[in-house]
Amino acid sequence: MSVNEQAYHQLIQGLKLQKVTLVAVSKTKPVAEIKELYELGHRDFGENYTQELAEKHSLLPADIRWHFIGHLQTNKVKHIASFVQLIHGVDSLKLLEEINKQAKKYGRIIDCLLQVHIASEETKFGLDKEGLQELGGKEAELAALKNIRVVGLMGMASFTGDKDKIRGEFRYLKELFDRHSRRKTPNWQFQTVSMGMSADYKIAIEEGSNMVRIGSLLFGERG
Ligand SMILES: *Cc1c(COP(=O)(O)O)cnc(C)c1O
Repeated sequence: MSVNEQAYHQLIQGLKLQKVTLVAVSKTKPVAEIKELYELGHRDFGENYTQELAEKHSLLPADIRWHFIGHLQTNKVKHIASFVQLIHGVDSLKLLEEINKQAKKYGRIIDCLLQVHIASEETKFGLDKEGLQELGGKEAELAALKNIRVVGLMGMASFTGDKDKIRGEFRYLKELFDRHSRRKTPNWQFQTVSMGMSADYKIAIEEGSNMVRIGSLLFGERG
């Protein structure tokens, strides 16, 4: 298998016009395929296991911007803290505190997105509306975390063919984004709505996404 270059060119052209960032989701794919996209000029890649991410980071060019898009356990933050560009799936203050602690060790400020649970499936991680409200309200605790920045929200729609349902879920996430972007904590600077994958990115962009995470469309189906 190799990268679908034609799909990449078509996708990236459209996304650039709409000022949407493409995170190429390279989980389970070999470094050779990541390199193919890198040679085409692509720099943003997403992985969802810390070990796989750390290994690929060590094997590939240093100017790649690595996105962590999986569920992050507190004891794994240390594996990626020295280099990660953006952590998409944060869903607790405890995790933010650990990211802050690890970032500080490297003299870095790590950008984070809060994951919001918008799908109807039970299995997906993330905060609900109340949890987001509660976390955002912890202004003193958040302000103390000088080595992180909360830059927006991330969400995954339900796994369904019902486009109206998907649209409604993305719309809901964008509403939460707009509401919470008004907060005035120094390290709470909303700018990114990460929503949309291979099957639903067009709907996500129509509903206000400015960062899509796309894997199978570029790399083919995962085995
Ligand atoms: C795997 C994954 C994607 C990409 O999914 P595709 O359907 O292959 O585009 C996006 N976001 C997250 C969080 C993922 O785990």
